[in-house]
Amino acid sequence: MKKKAIEKIPFLTLPGVRRGKTVEYVAVTDIREIAAEPHLFIEVYRNRKDSKDIPVVRIALTGKDFGTFFPGTGAWSGSRITSGTRDSHGLVWREDGGHVLRSREDREKENVLYSQKDLERIRAFTNETVWREESWWDFIDRRQKDITSEKYRKKGMRKYERRQAALEERIENTGILPEGKILQYADQAVFGSRHTIFYRKHGPRVTVACTECGGVTVARWKQGQSYESRFERTVEEPVENHYGICPECGKTGLYVPQGRAGRMRAQKGYLFLGQQYQKTGFVLRYVEVEKEWVLEEAWENGLEMVYAHEKLSGTEVARIYFEPGKKVQKDYHKHDPYSGKDFWDDCNLSGLANITIKPGKIMPETFGAVKGSFLRYSALEEYCAAEKTDTSPVDYLERYLHTPQIEMLVKMGLTGVVRGLMACHYGIVQDADAERPELFLGIRKERVKQLVREKGDTDILTVMQMERRMHRCWTDSQIKCLAEAGIGDRVSEVLMYMGVQKFLNRVAKYAGCGYGTGCSTAVSRLQGTASRYTDYLNMRHALGYDMTNTVYLFPRNLDAAHARMVEESNKKEADIRIASVCARYPLIKKHYRRYRKQFYFADGEFLIRPARDAGEIVMEGRILHHCVGGDGYLKKHNDGKGIILFLRAADAPDTPYITVEIDPEKKKIRQWYGAHDKKPDKERMQEWLDAYVVRLKCGQGAAGQDAAQVTGQGFPAAM
Ligand SMILES: [Zn+2]
Repeated sequence: MKKKAIEKIPFLTLPGVRRGKTVEYVAVTDIREIAAEPHLFIEVYRNRKDSKDIPVVRIALTGKDFGTFFPGTGAWSGSRITSGTRDSHGLVWREDGGHVLRSREDREKENVLYSQKDLERIRAFTNETVWREESWWDFIDRRQKDITSEKYRKKGMRKYERRQAALEERIENTGILPEGKILQYADQAVFGSRHTIFYRKHGPRVTVACTECGGVTVARWKQGQSYESRFERTVEEPVENHYGICPECGKTGLYVPQGRAGRMRAQKGYLFLGQQYQKTGFVLRYVEVEKEWVLEEAWENGLEMVYAHEKLSGTEVARIYFEPGKKVQKDYHKHDPYSGKDFWDDCNLSGLANITIKPGKIMPETFGAVKGSFLRYSALEEYCAAEKTDTSPVDYLERYLHTPQIEMLVKMGLTGVVRGLMACHYGIVQDADAERPELFLGIRKERVKQLVREKGDTDILTVMQMERRMHRCWTDSQIKCLAEAGIGDRVSEVLMYMGVQKFLNRVAKYAGCGYGTGCSTAVSRLQGTASRYTDYLNMRHALGYDMTNTVYLFPRNLDAAHARMVEESNKKEADIRIASVCARYPLIKKHYRRYRKQFYFADGEFLIRPARDAGEIVMEGRILHHCVGGDGYLKKHNDGKGIILFLRAADAPDTPYITVEIDPEKKKIRQWYGAHDKKPDKERMQEWLDAYVVRLKCGQGAAGQDAAQVTGQGFPAAM
């Protein structure tokens, strides 16, 4: 939009006010040329004598663009004519912002065009069709919608083209993959240069086929009795899944019986090759390699082994680009099932087909390429050397870019910490901006050496962080023992009132084994005991016991004491719930007497009464295992919309039996249930309740004599 030029054009002005009370706004139109492009102007005026000169809005529309100008504020808006919003018919000039809902008919009466000519002009210019021409703004709205979607489409296209061009550029600048070198490396590093010797025994003889040399040999594995047999060639007896030596080439191979040759004779693995990219960038090529051990057979006297060989192959699955100042870019090798072609794409597949980059072997050339790139200080080589197992250099370098301190950690030998960071356990970092390891990790300075000795073990680190946090100073061995007990932070509260050595000794005593044995059974016993003991102490403490009392600190039987604390904690939780519902639903208790007068009834066998307070309803629900203790029922009872009644045996008035919900207005039973949502003694109880309801409706409730009589027998009447 040429906003300045549009603003300069004088307003069209309203020739005259339209009659009719319902008309609130009148629109005038005209077509003006700006820079040789026709613009449709739509100006909307208030239908008042004093508003004929300046419109509320001026909308300018061309074939490709539109804009709305508000002369009152001098502001421009790019929103559509009906964007005043909520019901999507809010016309932009309405002072209420279109938030007041109106019928279409009302809108048409309130917002009109000045003349028929205006309508014709709009229709011709927009070249759209609408359902009702009285809603003339729909022409403009349609046109604006088309323009907007066209703009988005172009924007999307441009973005796609840019991405595609960047992808092309990366492909262009990526070096060739040294396939031969990769396969050679894979055979040795991924598959351990493994060969297979297929075999089939027949009596004292055996046929063996070697995948390395392809040779097929028939020989004796069992010494014969006859003289001639002594001159036959002999070999060792093949044993499935053991390694043997090929009698032809002398190489070692795994024995596999001929019958199993068809199945699972292939293995997959993954490796990374790093190369320099552009000037200082770096690209990791992620390759899937496969080795197959194949046995060729032919049918003669049975299935005969003819020839054996090995097949190595590889596919590049992904490329990961690292460039200074840029986000890490991952390109994936995909296959298009329709065209049958392979191609590179700059995003992963979604859902189940998602390509994951697994840890793998790293080709030695990678480290040389790292040294020539901006990642030269990443210590990737040192990390891989320390880890010894397969790693993902992608994860490592991504972490390094995020947390450059990784270099320092690796070089100090704190591999465990780095492994934790790679698994995204960022909780172990105390100060992400710190340069010094003790500050970065939040441990005492003196501990760094020990942590290095432990190779950055994260369990040990957790204990060291706790030591620092609690301002303590423990011995090296105490740190190790606490880490072995594996209770982490949970123990910190215990250590407020118990010395660390005392705690460790107790755990060892309860567990019946010591620290540092290296025996996995002992470790798991220690950890289980430490966890239970900590739980026990924490529960005791939370329940408000005096934690200086040695009887509480050192129970003779830990399991029994632990169980007792669990029980007590549960009870305490229940008490908290009861106190809270009583506070939230106080009317249950307040109206108890009134409801009791209304609903109490008893005969020789049963009695029924309302709940005394919210807590009683919660307990009823808990004992009978149904849901009456939930907030829904409590609220209904509290508001007098559904009264909870307890039906109990007359000779066991304190034992919950049946719970009833009654509609206090209609005196109708909504539902009744016993334990576990069942209806015990269903027919008889239904009969009893039906009779009770009839009584209620006749106004013979608790006011009856039975009540007085039963109360007299000692049923609690008062609160
Ligand atoms: Zn061989």
